[in-house]
Amino acid sequence: MKMREKSNSLILAGVFIFMLIILSFWWKKQAVAQTFVQPADPQVKGLQEKLLRARPLPLKDVRLTGGPLLRAQYLTSQYLLQLEPDRMLAYYRQRAGLQPKAKPYGGWDGPGRNLTGHIAGHYLSAVSLMWAATGDARFKERADYIVKELKEIQDKHGDGYLSALEGGRECFEALAQGEIRTASFDLNGLWAPWYTLHKTFAGLRDAYRLTGNKLALEIETKFAAWAEKILSKLNAAQVQKMLNTEFGGMNEVLVDLFVDTGDRRWLELSSKFEHRVFVEPLKRHQDNLAGKHGNMQIPKMAGAANRYLHTGNPDDLMASNFFWNRVAKHHSYATGGHGLNEYFGEPDQLSQRVDGRTAESCNIYNMLKLTRILFSFWPSAHYADFLERALFNHVLGSIDPEDGRTCYMVPVGRAVQHEYQDMFRSFTCCVGSGMENHALHGLGIYYESGNKLWINLFKDHSGLCQLIGR
Ligand SMILES: [Zn+2]
Repeated sequence: MKMREKSNSLILAGVFIFMLIILSFWWKKQAVAQTFVQPADPQVKGLQEKLLRARPLPLKDVRLTGGPLLRAQYLTSQYLLQLEPDRMLAYYRQRAGLQPKAKPYGGWDGPGRNLTGHIAGHYLSAVSLMWAATGDARFKERADYIVKELKEIQDKHGDGYLSALEGGRECFEALAQGEIRTASFDLNGLWAPWYTLHKTFAGLRDAYRLTGNKLALEIETKFAAWAEKILSKLNAAQVQKMLNTEFGGMNEVLVDLFVDTGDRRWLELSSKFEHRVFVEPLKRHQDNLAGKHGNMQIPKMAGAANRYLHTGNPDDLMASNFFWNRVAKHHSYATGGHGLNEYFGEPDQLSQRVDGRTAESCNIYNMLKLTRILFSFWPSAHYADFLERALFNHVLGSIDPEDGRTCYMVPVGRAVQHEYQDMFRSFTCCVGSGMENHALHGLGIYYESGNKLWINLFKDHSGLCQLIGR
């Protein structure tokens, strides 16, 4: 090769390498931009960037390619495709004065004193997650269909209300007037109505965030405005009384709505769902869990950790991280589950609490949500080990690897049995969270920060996952 040709080749190679560097830099920027929900408010965005030391790779960038996690995801995807959206929406239509399009489902999704309508919310979350996890267009079509139907139902109500609860209107109208009769699971005669509404809020949020359905955000915003009006005339003591009844993760979804819209109204509304009698001792690092219902509390703390990420309020972090430590280290069995008959006992005294109905599956779904958030603040094995332990022992243990049935309890103890559910009849809380549980397996495995990548599961990753665009 002549000298001139040689130098031309070197220049060309140099340009090529330079282009590659630019391209990879651009690609990296694009990838980072897609890994976390970007807050609409620039101030909040800056705070999020400061607090997040590890960002989870989003579901859409991780494809499971083998192993028991993929099997569980596949079985759940088949279950989701067998369920009929018109059936889970039937009572929503009926309450709005519209003709149902199909026979409603029963069990806990049935009429009367039930969580009527919770399944449509869980399902909307689950198909949105499954779309992100698999890229299968059938899940996006289902999410779009449900959002379109919810729009018609909400429009018929006319004031933003959106629920399938029998007597829901009467319950909330009485509440707005200051009539508040509460017990752990009862608010004005209904079973945990805010808990049920939370599932609809969360489904709309997930359809917006994971499938990009803007109509879902519009519906959710109108729904939140209705909730704001219901609470507008209540004083702080009345709101606190209302919060004695289970309310799911209402604080969490309203923080997310603030993140998605940039409207501080929703942050203020979220702060109304701060259950002081429960949270204040945790801020002081007092373990007040004995005798309390497990799954009633965990979403409150996932919401607090989420709010910390977007406000920087240290009280929220103090309470949620202390709660996590107490539950994970002092109230949990070897499987990562906790609770006897759904309730916490005294810390570090588990040996007398191993017979009977232990370790509800909803609780683990919510504990893993909290764990994933805390790991992103402090990327340490402290959190990753718990995630791995609970994921493999409880969550994978909660699904039958042959037929995909999921469990209410995955108990520990002598002569105990998995509580497999009738997947087309029972529709319990754990059937609902189970739909989401097994669509989430790609989340929390990988985290990134700059050039650093964390791998949080002790597995042969060559046969487990594929990273898209990395
Ligand atoms: Zn449950």
